[in-house]
Amino acid sequence: MTDPFRTETGHKSWGRVVEGEHQVARPRRTGAVRDLLHQAGDRGLTALAYGLGRSYGDSNLNPGGALIETRGLDRFIALDVEARVLRAEAGVSFDDILRAIVPHGLFLPTVPGTRYVTLGGAIANDVHGKNHHSAGSFGRHVRSIRLERSDRGIQDVTRETDPELFAATIGGLGLTGIILEAEIDLVPIASAFIDQRTEALTGVDHFFDIAETRAQEHEHTVAWIDCTASGDRLGQGVLSCGDWADEGALTPHPAKAGPALPVDLPGFALNPLTLKTFNLAYRKRQLMKPARARIHYSGFFHPLDSVRDWNRLYGARGFYQYQSVIGFETAREATRAMLTRIAASGLGSFLAVLKTFGEYAPEGVLSFPKQGATLALDFANTGEHTLSLMADLDRIVAEAGGRLYPAKDGRMSAGMFKAGYPDWTRVEAMRDPLLSSQFWRRVTDD
Ligand SMILES: Cc1cc2nc3c(=O)[nH]c(=O)nc-3n(C[C@H](O)[C@H](O)[C@H](O)COP(=O)(O)OP(=O)(O)OC[C@H]3O[C@@H](n4cnc5c(N)ncnc54)[C@H](O)[C@@H]3O)c2cc1C
Repeated sequence: MTDPFRTETGHKSWGRVVEGEHQVARPRRTGAVRDLLHQAGDRGLTALAYGLGRSYGDSNLNPGGALIETRGLDRFIALDVEARVLRAEAGVSFDDILRAIVPHGLFLPTVPGTRYVTLGGAIANDVHGKNHHSAGSFGRHVRSIRLERSDRGIQDVTRETDPELFAATIGGLGLTGIILEAEIDLVPIASAFIDQRTEALTGVDHFFDIAETRAQEHEHTVAWIDCTASGDRLGQGVLSCGDWADEGALTPHPAKAGPALPVDLPGFALNPLTLKTFNLAYRKRQLMKPARARIHYSGFFHPLDSVRDWNRLYGARGFYQYQSVIGFETAREATRAMLTRIAASGLGSFLAVLKTFGEYAPEGVLSFPKQGATLALDFANTGEHTLSLMADLDRIVAEAGGRLYPAKDGRMSAGMFKAGYPDWTRVEAMRDPLLSSQFWRRVTDD
C-alpha cells in the first residue's frame, strides 16, 4: 500500500512568515480521514486540517506533525433551493459555492474578504464579513457539523444535540475534530449586485460619529483607513456601505481567477514613501468614484481576489496581519492610539480596514467577533522593528480590554491570548487529543 503521507516543506500560511516540514495527506473521500488520523497517531504525530491556507499566521500549520489537506473533499451533498439550505463537504470553497448558488437567487449569509476559503476553514475560524452588525458571524448560520474524531469516530453535532462540542467547534481552530461535512443556511438575493454608497472620512472621530448610524442604514459597511496619515488627518479614509440591489441579473463571479503577481516584490520597494504614495492615491481613486453606484458583489466583497497571490507584494520575508477588536467604550481612544503609533513607525499597511461589529453574542467559545470596532492591518516582516510595533499595539489593545484574531495571528503571547479568550480551556477540554497546531501549542503551553 502506498503511504498516504508525504514529507513536504512548502506549506506556508497567507502571511508567508511561518513555514515548516509536515507529513501531508490529501484525501479524496471523507471516508479516508479516519484511517489518516489513525496512521498519524501510530507514527506518534499530531494532525491538523488545512483548507485553502488563507489564515495568515500559524493557526493552520502544524510543523513536525501531519497536515490533512481537505481540498479534495469538495462534493456538494444537497442544495434545497426552497428551504435555502446547503449541505456540502468541508473542502468545498466559497468560490465554488457562490458560483453554484447565485443563479438560484441565493447567497452565503456572510463572506470574508476573500472567497478562496473552504467551508471547514470558515467554520473553524467563525469568519465574519461586512455585515456582522446585520447577520452575525458565519457560525450563526451553521445547522450541523459532521466531525471525524480520533477518539470518538464520527460525530454529528448540532446546537441541540451537543451544545458544548458545537460551541467549541465554531471558531475552534480545527482542534475539535476534522470537519467532514456541514449544513448551512443560505440567504435570498434578488440580484448579484450591490448598491454601494461611498463617502470620505476625515478622521477617527468622523468614523465613530457615523459608524453606528450607517450600520443601522445599511446591511454591509466597511471603512478603509489611510494608516500613514497623522495629526489632523489621523484616521482619514473612505467609508463604503452597501445593500443588495432589488434588480439585476443573477450572474455569479467569473470562474477564472485574476492575474497572479508573478514575483515577490523586492524589500526596498516597500518603504514609508511608497506606502504613503499608495495610500494617498488609493483614497483619491476611491473618492473619484460616484458616491452611489451599483456594482457586482465580487467587486464589493472580494476586490483583492482580482490579483492572485497578492501576498507576494510584501516581499520574500512575508508579512503579519494584525486584527484587533475593542468594545465601544474604549474603541475610539484605543483606535486613535494605535493609528498614532503606526503612523510614527513608518510601517503602515497598503490596506487598513476599520469596521464595527454588532451586538450578536459570539457563536463559538473562541469566536473572535464581539461588539465593538475591529481594525485590521498588514505589516511587512522587517524583523524586530515590526515585532516591537505589534508589542506596543498589544499593550493598547490589552489595556482597552480587546483581543486579537487567531486566524490572523502568528506571534501573540500566551498571556495576550488567554486574556482575550478566558474560556479557552473549554476548547482544550473538547480538543481531539490527536489534533494540534503551532498556534495552539504557542498560546497554551506554559
Ligand atoms: C484576503 C483575505 C481576506 C480575509 N478577510 C477576512 C474577513 O473579512 N473576515 C474573516 O473572518 N476572515 C478573513 N480572512 C481570513 C480567512 O477568512 C480565514 O482564515 C479562513 O478561515 C481561511 O479558510 P481556509 O479554508 O483557507 O482555512 P485554513 O487557513 O487552511 O485553515 C484555517 C483553520 O481552519 C481549520 N480547518 C480547515 N479545514 C478544516 C476542516 N475540514 N476541519 C476542521 N478544521 C479545519 C484549520 O485547521 C485552521 O485552524 C481573510 C483572509 C484573506 C487571505
